[in-house]
Amino acid sequence: MDQNDHITPTLFDFDDFVKAKLNALKSKGSYRQFLLIDKQASLFPKFSYRNIDGKTKQATNWCTNDYLALSTWQGNRDKANEITHLSGTGSGGTRNISGSTIYHQALEGTLALWHDQERAILFNSAYQANLTTLATLGRHIPELIFISDEENHASLIEGMRSTANKKLIFRHNDIDHLECILNKLDAHAPKIIVFESIYSISGTIAPVAKIVELAKKHHCLTFVDEVHAVGLYGNNGSGLLNQLGLSSAVDIINGTLSKAIGVFGGYIAASHLWIDFIRSFGSGFIFTTSLPPALCAAAEHSIREIIANEELRKHFFENVTWLRHALDDQYIRYSGEGTHITNIHIGDAERCKAIATDLLEDHGQYLQPINHPTVPEGKECLRITVTPRHTRLDMQDLARSLNRVLKPKIILTGRSSRLSKVQMRLAHDKIKVHFPDLHEEVQYKESRGDRLAHVALHTQEGIDFFTEDVFNELKEGSADIAIHSLKDMSSAHFFGEHRFAVIDRDEVRDIAIFNPEVLDKIKSGKPIQIGTCSFRREYMAFHVLKNILPQLGPEITIEPLPIRGNIDTRLNKLNRREYDGIILAAAGINRMLNSIEDRASFLELMANKKWMVLPLVECVPAPCQAAIVVEAIPTNRIAQIILNKIKDPALHLLCMEEKRIANHYGAGCIQKFGVTTLHIGDRTVVLAKGQDESGVTFEDWHGLNSPGVEVHPDFILSSDELGYVPVKSPLNENIKSIQFDLGCFIAHISAIDSISPDYFHKTRVWVAGMATWKKMAQKGIWVEGCADSFGFQSIASLLKTSLISLDPLEISILTNKKSALRWIHSGYRAIGTYELTYESNLLHKYKLISAKMIFWNCFAHYDSVQNILPSGIIHACLPGRTAEALKIVGLDPLIFPTINAFNQWKKKYIQAYIAA
Ligand code: PLP
Repeated sequence: MDQNDHITPTLFDFDDFVKAKLNALKSKGSYRQFLLIDKQASLFPKFSYRNIDGKTKQATNWCTNDYLALSTWQGNRDKANEITHLSGTGSGGTRNISGSTIYHQALEGTLALWHDQERAILFNSAYQANLTTLATLGRHIPELIFISDEENHASLIEGMRSTANKKLIFRHNDIDHLECILNKLDAHAPKIIVFESIYSISGTIAPVAKIVELAKKHHCLTFVDEVHAVGLYGNNGSGLLNQLGLSSAVDIINGTLSKAIGVFGGYIAASHLWIDFIRSFGSGFIFTTSLPPALCAAAEHSIREIIANEELRKHFFENVTWLRHALDDQYIRYSGEGTHITNIHIGDAERCKAIATDLLEDHGQYLQPINHPTVPEGKECLRITVTPRHTRLDMQDLARSLNRVLKPKIILTGRSSRLSKVQMRLAHDKIKVHFPDLHEEVQYKESRGDRLAHVALHTQEGIDFFTEDVFNELKEGSADIAIHSLKDMSSAHFFGEHRFAVIDRDEVRDIAIFNPEVLDKIKSGKPIQIGTCSFRREYMAFHVLKNILPQLGPEITIEPLPIRGNIDTRLNKLNRREYDGIILAAAGINRMLNSIEDRASFLELMANKKWMVLPLVECVPAPCQAAIVVEAIPTNRIAQIILNKIKDPALHLLCMEEKRIANHYGAGCIQKFGVTTLHIGDRTVVLAKGQDESGVTFEDWHGLNSPGVEVHPDFILSSDELGYVPVKSPLNENIKSIQFDLGCFIAHISAIDSISPDYFHKTRVWVAGMATWKKMAQKGIWVEGCADSFGFQSIASLLKTSLISLDPLEISILTNKKSALRWIHSGYRAIGTYELTYESNLLHKYKLISAKMIFWNCFAHYDSVQNILPSGIIHACLPGRTAEALKIVGLDPLIFPTINAFNQWKKKYIQAYIAA
């Protein structure tokens, strides 16, 4: 005998079944609790309620669908009273059996006209109208295929579900998906597209025009639920279709009398034929008592008010905007752009409920949690609606309450490298200054570039190796603001759809760092192995280094060795003697040294290293090198507000310009050129230099302009062409006072003619420009960096960085006696180590007196001939001391960044002159 034969069947336990179902709801936090409101028209939107302790409390209603507050309008209340008085409370019958009154007919007529359709019929709710219409269509046309938006309202779904018809669902508002579905269907099969115009919870708007177009093409009916648009949108207030001029382009419109109209009931509006059909076959229309006449009259009265009172609708939308400003001010994120629905995503039923409870009990703000099944699990939210009767003060109070309860935070994301973390702290600090009470969370993301740390990136497919994973976080919504090094970002991305703010820029130059044994290698003539993964650095820095490293043996040879990894990894590799030297961005190290957390370990990594900051004009940095950019998607309003506040607009423009100019020469990580901005006097020029995509070398100065006066090119001279012969006489007695221990700046190689190179082995040496640097190198002296002939003051801030740590006022400027006196006068330490005079001859004097524009290579040139200069001459010069000295004597020189730049300008000027 089978064991089962002994089991006596138990009776179905209804109670257990129902309790289990309810408990499941409760455990998910989706169990609904109704708040009993003592709704009073005069107090609206405030109301009283009893809390769980039985106490009477007051709150403000932020979740009503009585959008225009017309349920409380005296006109409607009077109308309902009047007709109730006249005709009684109920209609007393179905439409077929004594329930069709003059009030029903009048309202249906008004609705048809309002929606630009032939006819309308009333239902007891829009729910019933949806259910009945779709079910009737389905049952009577069994071949009809329902094509439904995935976020359609329950009443639409119930209507379709109650039939045996084929149903196909397209992704929410996804017109491509809809088209794809339609394309696959038999062209002859009857079809209907069912959708809403404005989605009530998410506040999204359907692409109505495109749907209508597709429907026409594929011979489909269209059914549009306008429940949340009726009364609010369009010229006459009938809905979004009216606003779009598409009211009569759809087949069936569904609307409600219970929301913006403020009364009760629902309807459809369509052609005579369709209305006649639903009226004749729709069970939910036929077999139910019709609406009370007084409600029909009040609803009609309300619609007339909506049509006539444009101000009311305007006020409503102004309040929507005000509410959003108040939320922005309190960093509350929301969606629903372009509609009146403001949705705050919560994403968890329990939390949503707890938040709503706190808001009500502690803050007197009533927002019903929107949980499953109204929204899918994970999309739980608070849905705020505002009416013309909410005041601005109410809105501010709500926003403040939300801030207290939600504790909004902003999520920052960036690469997980140490430098990236330091850059993120910098962004964080800037945000804190402007938004001190905003909570922040920081998360890190490993980038593809980090994952591929062992390979050369130019061998890999793709761009944005260091930024793509990070900006994907923004797209996915798991972070609000991404922080990057701007030079890591491709122009395609930078000029793409996201928004950016450049917030900071450190020192732009590159730095070459060596192990001390490099000097022995130089002496022995062995090749020096330098690690770099940048074509630009290899192309631009190697040949310069050959000439500026101390020339202690045979000609220096440099071999590139690939290197990858973050700056700390690279410094470690250098320390392990895998390389003789490496080239990095000076900014990276400087930022690490500025960081309290990283300083000690970086000092250790840099200990016993010899380094030189590479010259700017010879080794032009990458476009936007050393700049930090923060990024956010345009729809993230809070992030956009933050970006706008922390952005450095001038820097932002400069960086855009560098990127734009760089694009002109090529892009990607194989570029062999640099682009950098130079501030010369009071103008900004951009230097682009190197080799372009097609292998052509170039040096272009962008932003140089002409003197504005017409000068014959023959009369534009450089003071070098005037045949000056500098006569130098050393001033040996001054040399003893040189304080080498604090560092020195050599303004001209003549300044050290009479000084033994030994002096310079004991100190830190900076030089004016490349000519001096090369000569120092020939003397075997290690130079840390130069001023690129832009004058000592152009490197004052560079010297003060944590990386260099030299005080410009402490180091000794070695120059000629006259210049030294000027420096001392301005508070610097300077020593005149030689006397400088110039001799010229008659021929040159003749050239000089016919000149119209003179480019002064140094102030002393000007000084020695100023008495014989013709009047009205245009002066030009290099930046720095020469420019300053010329200004002091009352001239306004045109400043050119380099002699090359002057010559380039002159060439272009001559071409233009000849052409003219
Ligand atoms: N359609 C949508 C999109 C809705 O949101 C609602 C109600 O919330 C309805 C239809 C039903 O409207 P009524 O309240 O008139 O039954």
